[in-house]
Amino acid sequence: MHPDLVLISNLWQIDHQCDLLRAEHEALANAVRAADAAVKGVEAQLSAIAVQRDDATQRTRKNDRELADYVDKRDRTGKMIDTGTAPDYAAAVKQLAQVLEIVDRLETGALELMEAVEALEEARASAQRELESGKRALVVARTALATRDRPVRAELTELLESRPDAADDVPAEYQSAYAYQRQRKRPALVNTHEQMCQTCQTRIPGQRIVETTLARAVHTCPGCAGWLLP
Ligand SMILES: [Zn+2]
Repeated sequence: MHPDLVLISNLWQIDHQCDLLRAEHEALANAVRAADAAVKGVEAQLSAIAVQRDDATQRTRKNDRELADYVDKRDRTGKMIDTGTAPDYAAAVKQLAQVLEIVDRLETGALELMEAVEALEEARASAQRELESGKRALVVARTALATRDRPVRAELTELLESRPDAADDVPAEYQSAYAYQRQRKRPALVNTHEQMCQTCQTRIPGQRIVETTLARAVHTCPGCAGWLLP
């Protein structure tokens, strides 16, 4: 390898390693945030279900009370008709018909409420299971972050301490090009295969490949401007 390329490569190893460590840390932190958000989401879902459940309970009570009243009314009216004690027979028959209709409606309402409560119970159980697995996932994510947090920081600190010397070693003529590659988040060094840049798939002039391989000169890819590795 050309000696200049070795110096560029030394700096790139440090920067690339720093990039990887930062990306690793960010991914671990993102996983914790995502798991936390998922848990909070399910908790909100459970609260909403509880509110709906309370509402259904109250409506059921009201429906049951009304139903009991109308069943009572139905029985009393029916008895009056049966025993011939109704003051106005025709009116009693008419009233009975109306009461029967209401009882029917309230019974249907009771069934619908029962089904609604059942569905809410199922939703609650499913959300509860989701909450439990979400909490487990959060613990796993937090543990993964906690395990890697200190080593990643230590490694980064060490790399960053060694960086100024490695940066100073890079000959001045490559400095701005290197900074530009970093700024554009492009790799400083690229591999070639059959005269193609493996980073951007641009064809590399044969001369550059030969001179790079023989360590006679330092060349870049015409596509992504990364320095060619032999
Ligand atoms: Zn390229």
